[in-house]
Amino acid sequence: MRIADNLSIIKQQILDSALKSGRNPLEVSLIAVTKNVSAARANECIAAGIFDLGENRVQELQNKLPEVPAARWHLIGHLQTNKVKYIIGRVALVHSLDRWTLAEEIDKKSQAAGIVTPVLVQVNVAGEETKFGLELQEARDFVAEAAGLSGIAIQGLMTIAPFVTNPEEVRPVFRQLKGLAHDLQDISGVRMDQLSMGMTNDYKVAIEEGATLIRIGTAIFGSRY
Ligand SMILES: *Cc1c(COP(=O)(O)O)cnc(C)c1O
Repeated sequence: MRIADNLSIIKQQILDSALKSGRNPLEVSLIAVTKNVSAARANECIAAGIFDLGENRVQELQNKLPEVPAARWHLIGHLQTNKVKYIIGRVALVHSLDRWTLAEEIDKKSQAAGIVTPVLVQVNVAGEETKFGLELQEARDFVAEAAGLSGIAIQGLMTIAPFVTNPEEVRPVFRQLKGLAHDLQDISGVRMDQLSMGMTNDYKVAIEEGATLIRIGTAIFGSRY
């Protein structure tokens, strides 16, 4: 199927899932994940009206920057501290703030550039060994400390749910992230209004549980592997 057709189906699904759970569909933004996808296909998303694109590797993001000039870029993957300098001022949102040394580096490089970088704190809700992200119990202290860094602006939280065949199994993961965001709202100097959760396999459930940013690759571009 064409990219535009896939996008129409997903947009309809966003509407259905939001309305089903009593949410305003306009609160849910679709991020098209373009990793392993050509710049030409990324530009098809732009042509179809999806300007928010996500990459998980800095090198690939850098390659696409000049070729997809209209995109608003989201860095969604693990970020090495020594690569921060390449993304400052070039991305709309970093979804994967997962450790203190990274917070310090984004802060430092942002201040040097005279900008503030919007970030989400990644939480490993399910405690999977293979995944990056803070543990649930670490999140409060981390966010409270990071709130003091003037070069970053915390906008909310992100999680990657475990891969399961029945997405109902990960509903509690999304619910916990939403609950955590609610708990952390009282920390001054941060916002907790963005919840980046939900991928091809589980985005409907994620929307029902409060996702404001869903990150979709396979359902748009087909299987990449
Ligand atoms: C690849 C990726 C996605 C998209 O996954 P799909 O299952 O293909 O929709 C979302 N988030 C992150 C962090 C990714 O690396």
